[in-house]
Amino acid sequence: MNLHEYQAKQLLSKFGVPILAGELAYTPREAQRAAINLGGGVCVVKAQVHAGGRGKAGGVKVAKSPDEAFDYASKILGMTLVTPQTGAQGKLVNKVWVEAGAAIDKEFYLSMLVDRAECGVAIVASKEGGMEIEEVAHTNPEKILTVVVKRESGLSGFHCRRVAQFLGIEKDKVASLEKVIRSLYTAFLALDCEMLEVNPLIQTKDGQFICLDAKVALDENAM
Ligand code: ADP
Ligand code: MG
Repeated sequence: MNLHEYQAKQLLSKFGVPILAGELAYTPREAQRAAINLGGGVCVVKAQVHAGGRGKAGGVKVAKSPDEAFDYASKILGMTLVTPQTGAQGKLVNKVWVEAGAAIDKEFYLSMLVDRAECGVAIVASKEGGMEIEEVAHTNPEKILTVVVKRESGLSGFHCRRVAQFLGIEKDKVASLEKVIRSLYTAFLALDCEMLEVNPLIQTKDGQFICLDAKVALDENAM
């Protein structure tokens, strides 16, 4: 079962995963109100459909004011979003997630999936965040790291440091990335995820890590 971004984020935040404040809106008026509640500054209006690639298709817009959030929500709500993940018929948008705007320095890719063959959880990471990872995997497979965490041994500092090193994280930021990876791993197991994809995981201009997008698939049998 696939979750919407806002549902995934709300669940993940319970495990200490860093996300930005946001509100769900079904009308442009609600989106404007959400933007005001978020402080009235820069915010992002994000279509909530079960598909990635929304940004390129016009489903993610940065608004500089609550009035702009109203305008973008008017455009996005009711639109049929066509992305490489929706199929040609697209997906109708009936709600948007209005989220605080982040000052992005770097965008990384980080995901976790059940690795049945290895009886564990595969952590996949890349510096090429924000892009379509399938394409990176195809053209530049060396830019993607896979680390398998065996079920019996669990996640260790070693796994986290390998990811941090591959992503070129500054030494004094490795511990904070490790904290994010640990919270994601805990959530992954507790929620019985099949897949948990954060693309992008960002590093802000002041050095913090935040999950800016979240795609979660839960195991239906576990549900
Ligand atoms: P999708 O993967 O469906 O295109 P994302 O949530 O990844 O949607 O958003 C696309 C891009 O929009 C991100 O890579 C990021 O650059 C930008 N973005 C998303 N959310 C925010 C935010 N809260 N603040 C600033 N930029 C954002
Ligand atoms: Mg994304």
